[in-house]
Parts: sequence; structure tokens; C-alpha cells
Amino acid sequence: MFFCNSGAEANEGLYKIARLHGHTDGRYEVITTENSFHGRTLAGIAATGQKKVKQGFEPAVEGFKHVPFNDLKAMQAAITEKTAAILIEGIQGEGGIYPAKPEYLLGLRKLCTDKNILMMMDSVQCGFFRTGHFQSWETILSDSNSDGFQPDAFSMAKSLGAGLPMGAIWANESLQDLLGPGTHGTTFGGTPLVSAHALKALEIIERDGLAQHAVTLGSHLTKRIQTLIEAHPTVLKEVRGLGLMIGIELAEDIPAFAESNRPASVQIVERLHDAGLLTIPAGARVFRLLPPLNLSQADADEGLAIIEGVIKELS
Ligand SMILES: *Cc1c(COP(=O)(O)O)cnc(C)c1O
Repeated sequence: MFFCNSGAEANEGLYKIARLHGHTDGRYEVITTENSFHGRTLAGIAATGQKKVKQGFEPAVEGFKHVPFNDLKAMQAAITEKTAAILIEGIQGEGGIYPAKPEYLLGLRKLCTDKNILMMMDSVQCGFFRTGHFQSWETILSDSNSDGFQPDAFSMAKSLGAGLPMGAIWANESLQDLLGPGTHGTTFGGTPLVSAHALKALEIIERDGLAQHAVTLGSHLTKRIQTLIEAHPTVLKEVRGLGLMIGIELAEDIPAFAESNRPASVQIVERLHDAGLLTIPAGARVFRLLPPLNLSQADADEGLAIIEGVIKELS
């Protein structure tokens, strides 16, 4: 483990591991996916598979390319003699809440092992018990014969510090000496203050069974939203996600949104905000619910009532 201060910084550590891993045979390329999000540093926006984060910041950091998500063949085809690593989110967050398929994860694992390419995962948003397990792939692969699936390295942040700035990377033992003394570091990474705070959060997650709570409450929220979709199909199209990482896709061409040319996702988030609920857009037509893991059922129901009110207004 290496502790740092944010998700973007954690991912920087992953790119550096990838480059060191490939260095002796001239490999430096990292393949990521379209609509991914990996943070706002220069390498982060180069890694991110969305044009809007890159505009105005050219020239891009070299050595990143993007392929469609959940498409094993596309990844296979994109690998060259320059490829050192691949990086994917277990569930695309900013991109619209799209979970990786089990066969995709297992296929990538095999592909990377066969070609000595690092399989790296960005768990900044979907990790840390949000889907009911420590990491998203444990949830995604829970029904598969996955034989101890593990990426070679992954990043974490967001929930990890329970509100304080903390990020981390984990890399498997065979990589542990790559980022040795002098190759990487940060002043505030893993300081006693944030570490004590994060440890306390971990203790509470275990004490209060918050991983299971994420599953139970997530399924309650998803069911209620499904009912709303059935009642208001002109406004809502689909709900998807795992645990307390939920994306709600809006229907196309909602008349009330026609006056503005801003994305529907932004417009709904503003209306929910005005009504007293904080959500966040994901892509052009999806808004996300990423509540704290200790959200109570009563608070969840209050939030649902706000969503219902806004949806009724729109329909
Ligand atoms: C938020 C996020 C990041 C960036 O994390 P910061 O702490 O904001 O730098 C990177 N990857 C994913 C998947 C994220 O959701």
C-alpha cells in the first residue's frame, strides 16, 4: 500500500508503476476505456476517455489510448508491443454507472497475465464497500467461478478517508519494489490525522455492518426508483448500479428541459438541489446517487420523496 491525498494522485502512482514495469523493454502505453474517468491531473485527463476534460490542456501526456468498455475483443486488438498496462474502473462512475461484466473482468485478467501486461483498476469511486464488498470486483464476480481474481494494482480514495483527503494504491507483492525509495512520495500521504480518521471509519463500517447495509439499502432504493420509472416513463428510463452506487437514466426529450441546451443530467441535478437533495450528473442523461454508507433508511426515504416530487413535476 502507498498512501496519498486524492484519487487522481493515486492513479498517478499506477501510471508510474506501469511505466516502470515496462521500462526495460520499451513499453509505456496504458490502455483505458471510453467514457472512463481517472482524475484531473495532466496524466489523469490523458487517461480519461472523455474529450471534455482534455479540451484546452493540449498537448496531452503521451502513452494513453481508449477502447470501448466491456469489450474484450477491442482491448485485445488495441494491445501492441508498447503496452505496459490496462486501467479500468470496476464500475464506470462519471461515464454513467456501468458495471464491468464478470466475463470482461475474467477475460482481461487472463489477457494481461498471458501478455505480461499489468491489469490495473481504478477503485476510487466504486471501491471501499460501496457495492457491498471491499472492492467492486468481489461483488461483480460473486456468482462466478473467479478463483481468487485480483488485479495487479488498484487505486482508492473518496470513501477511504471518510471526508478527509486520502488516497491509496495497492500493488501485488511482485511489484512492491518498483516504486522504491526516491521514485515516489508525498508529504501528507498517510499522516496520523487522516490515518486515524480512516481507521475509525473502517472500524465503524465493520461494527455497523455497513457493507451489508449498502446492499440492503441500495436494493430498497433501486426498487423504489423502479416503481417511479414505471409510473413516469416519459421522465425516467432505467436504474442501474450495485449497492449504494446508483445511476438513474432519464428518458430522452423531456419537454421541460427543452428550453435550455445544458445536458438533462445537469438540469435534473439542479432541480433536485433546489428541492433539497444533492446528487451528481454522470454523462448527459444520468444522475447518480452516491450517499454515505451510513445513510439511514429514513433519510433514504426522505431523499426518495424529494426525487418523486421533482419527477412528478416533470411528467
Ligand atoms: C473521483 C474519481 C477520481 C479522482 O479522484 P479525486 O480524489 O477527485 O482526485 C478518479 N477516478 C475515479 C473513478 C473517480 O470517480
